[in-house]
Amino acid sequence: MGLLEGKTAMIFGVANDRSIAWGIAQAFAREGAQLGLSYAGEALEKRVRPLAAQIGCDFVEPCDVASDEQILHIAQRASQRFGKVDILVHAIAFANRDELSGPYYNTSRSGFHLAMDISVYSFTALARAFQPFIPAGGALLTLTYYGSEKVAPHYNVMGVAKAALEASVRYLAYDFGLQQVRVNAISAGPIRTLAAAGVSGFKEMYKRYAEIAPLHSNVTIEDVGNAAAFLCSDWASKITGEVLFVDSGYNILGIPEAIE
Ligand code: NAD
Repeated sequence: MGLLEGKTAMIFGVANDRSIAWGIAQAFAREGAQLGLSYAGEALEKRVRPLAAQIGCDFVEPCDVASDEQILHIAQRASQRFGKVDILVHAIAFANRDELSGPYYNTSRSGFHLAMDISVYSFTALARAFQPFIPAGGALLTLTYYGSEKVAPHYNVMGVAKAALEASVRYLAYDFGLQQVRVNAISAGPIRTLAAAGVSGFKEMYKRYAEIAPLHSNVTIEDVGNAAAFLCSDWASKITGEVLFVDSGYNILGIPEAIE
């Protein structure tokens, strides 16, 4: 029997077959979950529908998380379709490309607001909209990065946003604990996705990461998908408010060994 047999999961953030959300969707499907996928807007539909078909998912709906109306609409549609939603996965982030290079102090007010709105607030807004439909034993999951704790050059406003996202995880975990629903984050090592391509210097950092990290390998969307399946399953029944690193051990390092 699969880890997620009998559970229904709504996954937000599939853009293409490199998306972390796609790794999670595949792992969840393999573990027996019934799935719904949501994508950002019309432009992505032609990419996301064929992927959904590959895992036998026919609930595929657009939702721009900048819109409270669209969030409410999808929560209602999902609850009508499935009756309950046990698992909510938020794999969404956005910042303007020009905020992800150069000094952090150049962050514009509007760029700051946008990054916080799409990358942080949207998790809380989705949690609120789905709250009535998440039964005891349910789980919420978001994706974060180590740039929330330590400076990752060029990550800038996204690092600040991830720190706020991780704090949101703890506050949501406290609130949702009353209904026996868990809230966690996975802090993934760098993966070559659309979102990552926007961060200046990412390619070089990605290469060095595998050389430096204790496991000497880069993280894949399959690695994150498997950890997500565990965290959202009953096997993780007393884990909430946590940030789980899936990063080949990079975060334990103080000083990386010099590379010849
Ligand atoms: P991705 O580009 O595949 O996914 C980002 C998703 O956010 C896309 O599906 C995009 O459509 C969606 N999105 C952006 N604005 C939206 C909006 N207004 N409404 C709805 N959806 C919107 O990249 P990814 O790397 O898979 O990113 C998923 C999550 O993983 C993000 O939170 C990212 O910060 C996090 N993460 C990524 C890495 C990495 O190295 N790739 C590492 C750690 C954490």
